[in-house]
Amino acid sequence: MSVKIDPTKPVFVTGASGYVAGWIIRYLLEDGYTVRGTVRNPEKASGLDHLRALAEAHPGRLTLHKADLLDEGSYAEAMAGCELVIHTASPFLLGRVKDPEAQLVRPALEGTRNVLGSVNATPSVKRVVLTSSVVAIHGDNVDMKGRGAFTEEDWNTTSSVDHQPYPYSKTVAEKAAWELAEAQDRWDMVTIHPGLVLGPALTTASKSGSMTTMKSFVDYSLATGAPDLAMGMVDVRDVARAHIAAGFTPEAHGRYITNARTVTMLDIGRALRKRFGRSYPFPYTLVPKAMFRLVAPVAGFSREFVDKNVGWPLAFDNSRSVAELGLDYRPFEETVGDHFQQMIDDGVAHKPWF
Ligand code: NAP
Repeated sequence: MSVKIDPTKPVFVTGASGYVAGWIIRYLLEDGYTVRGTVRNPEKASGLDHLRALAEAHPGRLTLHKADLLDEGSYAEAMAGCELVIHTASPFLLGRVKDPEAQLVRPALEGTRNVLGSVNATPSVKRVVLTSSVVAIHGDNVDMKGRGAFTEEDWNTTSSVDHQPYPYSKTVAEKAAWELAEAQDRWDMVTIHPGLVLGPALTTASKSGSMTTMKSFVDYSLATGAPDLAMGMVDVRDVARAHIAAGFTPEAHGRYITNARTVTMLDIGRALRKRFGRSYPFPYTLVPKAMFRLVAPVAGFSREFVDKNVGWPLAFDNSRSVAELGLDYRPFEETVGDHFQQMIDDGVAHKPWF
């Protein structure tokens, strides 16, 4: 299916206040498009300043609309007349989550069904771009056994609400989305699968796992060493570009792994030390797996997570995103360096002492 989106029609973006959505909206506006963004509370006193500044810089081209993932039909009214829907809204929480069903799975799954229910009820929509994740491709690093790299053909079959609830939430939400997409033929769907997204944030309000990961480089939690945990990683600006390319490339189709490379926290720490010096508690060494396993529950990781992830290699094949969406991934040193610089500028990290 080839889908041509009318560039004069507003682009609909859910979860507009989020870390990833902020960059999608900024680039859409800079490229000349009009955007309708949804947030839970458009009147919120804090957390929307960057969107209000964008609206002021691009008069008449960004409006914010109230919608909640758990409120059926709340997306429909603002969606009227849009041809392209970019669905990013979904909670991304790392570490210990008190009630994973309520905090992760319900909003991801019911939210996706609600947004796509509104898509079904909105005749103008031609394409949906859904923010999925590499965690809908694989659950634990040990799942790599016997493969060279994960591809778009792979699905996470090992996560559950009790083990790896965030990956589980993304997997069930994406599956439900494909079921709804395949049950009709008016609109098509393209899914974007980033690894851990890092890079400068346009807001300090996001509680995304991307922020908590970077904060661990200043809160001394890695000062004595980092676990040997390989993870996918990609720049937020490249992820934003991937969503826009997926929306406006008529032939784009299916799933796109959008991951620059795999890194460990030690790799990130080394890159940060090179750029910012020795004033910060960046890790110097790896924590032996047995020792990490011992303290893991205190750090918010289960021992099962440690067994199935620490020390295992991980690789993703991103060639479809390069060939078909034209992505040219930034070097990871630039991504993490720019992210940390922004944390200094925002006062989240102190200035270098020497
Ligand atoms: P984020 O900054 O926390 O943004 C999440 C957004 O979801 C927020 O705008 C939030 O809106 C919205 N949201 C959460 N619960 C909601 C609800 N019940 N109703 C309406 N909106 C709700 O996280 P992010 O990192 O930008 O993540 C955006 C998307 O990228 C998610 O789908 C995530 O799974 C995916 N992703 C992220 C990464 C990553 O490393 N960051 C990697 C792969 C995929 P409020 O402001 O109203 O809370």
